[in-house]
Amino acid sequence: MIRLDGKATANTIKEEIKEKVSAMKIRGERVPHLAAVLVGNDGASLTYVGSKVRSCEYVGFESTLIRLEETITEEALLTQIDALNKDEKLDGYIVQLPLPKHIDEEKILLAIDPKKDVDGFHPANFGRMALELDAFIPATPFGIMQLLERYEVPTSGKHCVVVGRSHIVGRPISILMSQKGLAGNATVTVAHSRTENLAELTRQADIVVMALGIPEYLTADMIKEDAVIIDVGITRVEDKNHPKGYVIKGDVAFDEVAQKASHITPVPGGVGPMTIAMLLQNTLLARQWNLA
Ligand code: NDP
Repeated sequence: MIRLDGKATANTIKEEIKEKVSAMKIRGERVPHLAAVLVGNDGASLTYVGSKVRSCEYVGFESTLIRLEETITEEALLTQIDALNKDEKLDGYIVQLPLPKHIDEEKILLAIDPKKDVDGFHPANFGRMALELDAFIPATPFGIMQLLERYEVPTSGKHCVVVGRSHIVGRPISILMSQKGLAGNATVTVAHSRTENLAELTRQADIVVMALGIPEYLTADMIKEDAVIIDVGITRVEDKNHPKGYVIKGDVAFDEVAQKASHITPVPGGVGPMTIAMLLQNTLLARQWNLA
């Protein structure tokens, strides 16, 4: 069984980006600049944004954290977005989700200039991705594609079952894996909460991508021998024996499934760390595309 080590792969990608940024500096070019907009004081969001900013510093990017009050109006946030769109020294930015309930998330995401949408959530980017044009690919599916590619996991002609059809994980990964190219050319089935006889489908799959958010849902009896297992799920499960009071679980019952799989991503340390690395990669691309 091969463990697809997302932490190590993400570190390799960060080192590659760091080298490219050093070369830009030597050539006297402006380095990529990423901004993160954080509304309110949600603990998990603070942690995510903090690690994104630290990663920017690590690779040599410029980064700006814009913290806004929980009570900010939708109009004031849109004004802020407009200023970021117009800022020529900024290559890309993200608006950390979730936003407070009084703000329409869709309206905010639609206001982001697609050329700076390094999260890849704008319909213009999603459409371009689906049409195989240059686009910012959402970081999590982009990270999964990189893991498959870098570990040279065979996907061409294979049957892949993706469990989950969200706009940020399930749907885009199903599109990407069915496209031509590296880590693609798979025959993809998308499953969701209305799917009947899910285990029958997953047992036929050469590759299973689990992105539903139910801890340890995929068990060994649901896969075939030597299947490739990609676990996107991240759920906090209460654990009084752990100093934090919880542990992080994926959507896969790792210990039993790992015995039967040919390749598997652990949680934590699999898909999760790849997400930040790919956000950095998208920011580097934004810098390069905005030069053109
Ligand atoms: P969503 O809740 O948006 O989507 C979950 C999907 O799973 C839906 O399509 C839903 O179906 C489907 N689903 C729910 N229950 C079942 C079931 N019993 N059988 C089959 N399908 C089911 O989640 P996300 O896509 O945003 O996230 C999925 C998981 O991945 C979460 O644990 C999240 O924390 C994690 N995640 C991890 C990231 C990382 O960096 N590693 C990044 C993003 C997410 P339906 O459409 O019918 O409701």
